[in-house]
Amino acid sequence: MSEQAASDRNKPTVLVIDPSAGNRALICECLRQLPEVRTIATGDAEQALQMFREIQPDMVLLDTTQQDTNGIELTQRIRAWELSRIETGISPWTPIVFLSSVTDEDTLARGILAGGDDFLSKPVSEVVLLAKVRALLRISTRQQEICEVHRQLKEIAILDSLTGIPNRRHFDDTLLVEWKRCIRNEAPLSIVLSDVDFFKQFNDIYGHQAGDHCLRAVANSLSESLFRVEDCVARYGGEEFVAILPGTDAEGAYAVAERMRQSARDLRIPHERGIDGRVSCSFGVASTQPSIDTAPQLLVRTADSSLYAAKSAGRNRVELNRE
Ligand code: GH3
Ligand code: MG
Ligand code: MG
Repeated sequence: MSEQAASDRNKPTVLVIDPSAGNRALICECLRQLPEVRTIATGDAEQALQMFREIQPDMVLLDTTQQDTNGIELTQRIRAWELSRIETGISPWTPIVFLSSVTDEDTLARGILAGGDDFLSKPVSEVVLLAKVRALLRISTRQQEICEVHRQLKEIAILDSLTGIPNRRHFDDTLLVEWKRCIRNEAPLSIVLSDVDFFKQFNDIYGHQAGDHCLRAVANSLSESLFRVEDCVARYGGEEFVAILPGTDAEGAYAVAERMRQSARDLRIPHERGIDGRVSCSFGVASTQPSIDTAPQLLVRTADSSLYAAKSAGRNRVELNRE
């Protein structure tokens, strides 16, 4: 791709839809007075929709006077597609301006109801057209910025600020989602609850900052022990972590927990009161076949009692509780 083409791609894009080649050329010519804007154009409704999906322009200028374009229907389809793209609670919105020689109020009202944002009467004054494009692109850019900030906030909201891995809230939500998915797929679901051994003493001996550093390293090592994309490890609270393993049975989960245990151990973080002078973690595994008659909380409780058993049995070990 040439440098020019690459820089054009970053410009706000206006999609011009008008069945008349002459009109399209006129509008594009007019928009060339805005060098910061890229213009693309088509006269065909189906192609317009395809371009809209692929290129996702920042604004649409749509002729509604010509029968074969059927601007109202096209607008409805564009809005429906935007709604289907809802991500993290916000769907994209692209300003749509109708260019129409019909000026009756009913047509205008129908256009706005269908999802249009403004009407310009033909023949359109260049000055007015350029001003409207500038104004709506400004709003569209702000809207995109809001969407991006919203996406970032959503991302931050599910992450634990100390370790950078998913937090308890994300665990609760994910467990529910995976529980239902495993019911549908008739697949097993396992969780692994882990807890750093003698961590209070670690803090007492090395200080809280070293404790935080240790938690970050452990969180990282536990995350890296999971190989499947659907697996996820979250900070459950304090020095406790939890992994969700959808579609994994008890034996599989035990093997994963053993890998997690070894991985934390391999960090070789010195702990003078720890087992063999190093930081270690204990693990409780629980596995079940989710059904509508049981609740995921029971699985967590079972993993907790397995973890308790691992602590009682001497720590730095994995205990499995099979249902
Ligand atoms: P056990 O082997 O039975 O698990 O003993 P433990 O000392 O690890 O367990 P205990 O529950 O008594 O202590 C947990 C400690 O974890 C106490 C608390 O100060 C520390 N802790 C919890 N959250 C954090 C954190 O975010 N940073 C640091 N540095 N320490 C934390
Ligand atoms: Mg604990
Ligand atoms: Mg502990």
